[in-house]
Amino acid sequence: MSEETIFSKIIRQEIPTPLLYQDDLVTAFRDIAPRVESHILIVPNKVIPTINDVTEQDELTLGRMVTVAKRLAKDEGIDENGYRLIINCNEHGGQEVYHIHMHLLGGQPLGSMLSV
Ligand code: 5GP
Repeated sequence: MSEETIFSKIIRQEIPTPLLYQDDLVTAFRDIAPRVESHILIVPNKVIPTINDVTEQDELTLGRMVTVAKRLAKDEGIDENGYRLIINCNEHGGQEVYHIHMHLLGGQPLGSMLSV
């Protein structure tokens, strides 16, 4: 079994964090250190450390992450103006928590895609 991170404790509500969405596959909650007006994390309930560890068995879960992101963007009222979805991978990708998660970022203009 892959090593758990703080996200597993949030998913099981062992660390109380308001959940914006949860079903059998994914959980969503606000980022603890929001970089923009609206910053939500969409996380698979199962521990998958990085995108490099994804298999075909995870395709339903990854698809669910996108449909939940779309739904939450509408709930946040940011769907019409637009938003950005990001999944970081490993060191060069800037990944800090080794349980994959999709960042939903919006609520303001996000500028150019990258600053390196
Ligand atoms: P990464 O850099 O791995 O793509 O993003 C990890 C994100 O998780 C960061 O934006 C960070 O602020 C967020 N984060 C880390 N620990 C916690 C936590 O305990 N609760 C919440 N809600 N977000 C967290």
